[in-house]
Amino acid sequence: MTDKVYVQDKDGQPLMPTKPARARRKLDQGKAEVVQRDPFTIRLTYEVDGEKNTEEIRIGLDEGSKKGGASAVQNGGEVLYQSEVQLRTDIRSKMDRRRRYRRSRRSRKTRYRKPKFDNRRREEGWLPPSLKSKAESMVKAVKDISEILPIEGVNVEIAPFDMQKVKDPDIEGEEYQNGELKGHTSARQYVLYRDKHQCINCKKDDVPLQTHHIQPKREGGTDKPSNMVSLCVECHEGVHSGEVELSERSLKYWTNKEYKYASHVNSMKDYIVDELKKLFDDVKVTFGNITKAVRKKLGLGKSDVNDSIAVASQDFIDKDSVSTLGYTFVKKCLPRGRYRLHKGEGSEVSIPTDDSDYFGFNRWDKVELPDGTVGFVKGRRKSGYFDISDIDGNSYDHSIRYSKLELISRADTIITEVRGNSSPQ
Ligand SMILES: [Zn+2]
Ligand SMILES: [Zn+2]
Repeated sequence: MTDKVYVQDKDGQPLMPTKPARARRKLDQGKAEVVQRDPFTIRLTYEVDGEKNTEEIRIGLDEGSKKGGASAVQNGGEVLYQSEVQLRTDIRSKMDRRRRYRRSRRSRKTRYRKPKFDNRRREEGWLPPSLKSKAESMVKAVKDISEILPIEGVNVEIAPFDMQKVKDPDIEGEEYQNGELKGHTSARQYVLYRDKHQCINCKKDDVPLQTHHIQPKREGGTDKPSNMVSLCVECHEGVHSGEVELSERSLKYWTNKEYKYASHVNSMKDYIVDELKKLFDDVKVTFGNITKAVRKKLGLGKSDVNDSIAVASQDFIDKDSVSTLGYTFVKKCLPRGRYRLHKGEGSEVSIPTDDSDYFGFNRWDKVELPDGTVGFVKGRRKSGYFDISDIDGNSYDHSIRYSKLELISRADTIITEVRGNSSPQ
């Protein structure tokens, strides 16, 4: 069993987590009931007062193209929840397939279909389906945590750098000037990032780099990124001694390379922040360079989960370490249903499918095997023998009779597995 049990009060409002032994006692005494298995959550059956949490708990959110991290950290440096969210990457190909089907249908003789009008307009805040799915999964991950922990707010990383601060160092906020993070938003860090951490002259990227001022500071050159380039020590010395000459063209190329994300990535982050603001009063944005500095300070290695812990911990930066959990909740986002050419709503021929063929089990239902292993229904056969796997599809049992399975939870659009060094419950 994981070493934290999440607790809700009688009305379903989250309280502070408790130890498994305490939760077990409450369950045995009928003072609580089980809400869900992963994460293990109980709901008290009696009224409590005065037990409300006063500690500050923040959620940190960091997401990439395939995976994200969502964690909750308590002021004091204790991680109360950590998760990796595996995002759907199949949407684009499925949209392409749908388009192919539609096109082939147009050239076939089919029944009359009502013309579709006015279905091509894109509303403000429109996102391509592949990105929208990712954004929604991350928002859902935050919502799920807020149902089991009394959180105060959410921190979201929205970009690698705060460009406003890079371009105009004078507006650095106090969080950067208080010492711990000083210098991390500086133009120097940004210039190294912009130049892809390589010497722009010899292109070496495995040597210490320095930033060179194109117009020297004593001649009035500024600390702005447009006046700086990255050079290795050797080339830098060469430039100053006159042995190496940087071409006008190359300088222009690097300094004009204004940092941009592809615009759609920005709109996904905007979408996430907007959606979170609808749900929570306290939503703060942060930047990758700060996350990195905090993560290193806390002594955590690079991973999506650790990044999200660092994002959540930024407000508690006076701490030198965090105690992470010995396990991680791995969440996988699933398609809502299967695309049906023939059997779906509005298809040519309607053939009803009968899920009772599969003895009441659905794909990705969470089940327990007789030996206590917890897995997911990966494949169902009408013979009643199923294929059970872990969340990544690695098989536990290729052919087990349905009657030997104990249903733990129904498949949802997000399924969860506990992974880590403590034995999963
Ligand atoms: Zn060099
Ligand atoms: Zn120089």
